[in-house]
Amino acid sequence: MSRVPQIVGNWKMYKTAAAAREFIAALQPLIAPVCARVCLAVPFTALEAAVAAAKGTGIRIGAQNMHDQNEGAFTGEISACMLQESGVSFVLLGHSERRQYFAETNSFIHRKVQRALEARLIPILCIGEQFQERERGDQKKVLQMQLEECLQEIFPDEASRIIIAYEPVWAIGTGKTATPGIAQEMHQFIRNWLGKRFGSESAGKMSLLYGGSVKPDNIAELMVQTDIDGALVGGASLNVESFAQIVNY
Ligand code: PEP
Repeated sequence: MSRVPQIVGNWKMYKTAAAAREFIAALQPLIAPVCARVCLAVPFTALEAAVAAAKGTGIRIGAQNMHDQNEGAFTGEISACMLQESGVSFVLLGHSERRQYFAETNSFIHRKVQRALEARLIPILCIGEQFQERERGDQKKVLQMQLEECLQEIFPDEASRIIIAYEPVWAIGTGKTATPGIAQEMHQFIRNWLGKRFGSESAGKMSLLYGGSVKPDNIAELMVQTDIDGALVGGASLNVESFAQIVNY
């Protein structure tokens, strides 16, 4: 089953609209003619500028979060239909920083996955274990629970539109990448779970991304793993040269 390789930059709370325009203009000539699909998850305030700057380049723009309701008295929040109107194609959901600093639960993330699908946005569902959970040997149990709870009531035809990002929390922003062997083992576990839940045809179409201190010097060894279809890149996506090297791996 062929899946398109994709590299997704997550800018977190970095870059203004002006910086996003500059970055996209500088990135375009650095991208090799044949490379992975390039996606950027940018701050809300830079979405419109990034969508306009990326028009005609093939670069896809997405958001880093959204609320689980389409509208309501939720001060400071943004909904799926608002994102859809701004022209984005995907949204990160359940990033570990959202779980850790904003107490997001699997059931809240599950409702966001449903809203994103209804709005024809591609959800990139982030899952991953903490360091202590891995030390206890519970990493697969944790992933299984995150998958079960976040993907409840999702049908196989919807599942094939979802991207899963496996991001071990101990590897995010720490410089400690999972070894390619560990990353492949966890991706294979996820793919097998998806196969049991949605059938092998849908599971075979689903892209699985690895995230956690991906850099120009480790991307190639990760991308050759059978069940790794791309990467979610935080820190190294902020610099145009390092991001371009990752995209051209
Ligand atoms: C992330 O933010 O999803 C991430 C993986 O960050 P970093 O690449 O900096 O570890």
